[in-house]
Amino acid sequence: MQPLALSLPVLTPDTALFLDFDGCLVDIAPRPDAVVIPPGLPERLARLHDALDGAVALISGRDVADLRRHLPDFPGAIAGSHGAELALSGQVIETTHQADLDPDALHRAAADAVADHPAILVERKPHGVALHYRADPSLRPVVEEVMARLADANPDLVLQPAKMAMELRPAGSGKDGALDRLLAMAPFAGRVPVYAGDDLTDEVAMARAQALGGQGIKIGAGETVARHRLPDPAALARWLDDALEGLR
Ligand SMILES: [Mg+2]
Repeated sequence: MQPLALSLPVLTPDTALFLDFDGCLVDIAPRPDAVVIPPGLPERLARLHDALDGAVALISGRDVADLRRHLPDFPGAIAGSHGAELALSGQVIETTHQADLDPDALHRAAADAVADHPAILVERKPHGVALHYRADPSLRPVVEEVMARLADANPDLVLQPAKMAMELRPAGSGKDGALDRLLAMAPFAGRVPVYAGDDLTDEVAMARAQALGGQGIKIGAGETVARHRLPDPAALARWLDDALEGLR
């Protein structure tokens, strides 16, 4: 593991804050639907939204509807499905069109392919599918083989490795693209991006934030391009609360 950076970014009134959800704002759960929203998180996000004039976004591999179920009062922008969906002021904009994609057929194909391995969780996504092997990490090669086959059969989708999971997501999406799209629009435009995330999917976005003069904060262990690191979601929550004090 790389050493912890000694300093963390300073949030200023000119910051645009981008936050991953799983493993960043909430602890990773055994199943995606089992995450627990920590007490105080909705209020913390609302206060950040106020202090940064609305320039706070969630960026997640989950779809927007799923994120809204967990954080129904979140007032900021949401980039879901790795940026294939963008929700602004209540409206969801599909940024990646998959006219030919049949998510139900994809889900069935994935479920059939791993039917002999009940420990593999098949997650239907509106723009793809994910296979989770957290319950039995020895099944990783099975998941990799199945997903490579499905990727070959669906050229509009790309493979996205994640923590204890592999996902097929629309080509042309990605958290870096979501960051770029949000930074092109109010209230994010002209601000300095700070991006916090825990997963492989966040690395491109943290690299992008840093290339734009901003900062990345890696949550947890593992190789990263981010210049800063915090050990877990609880540490990020404490840092955000401290940063809020500085924004007063
Ligand atoms: Mg995450």
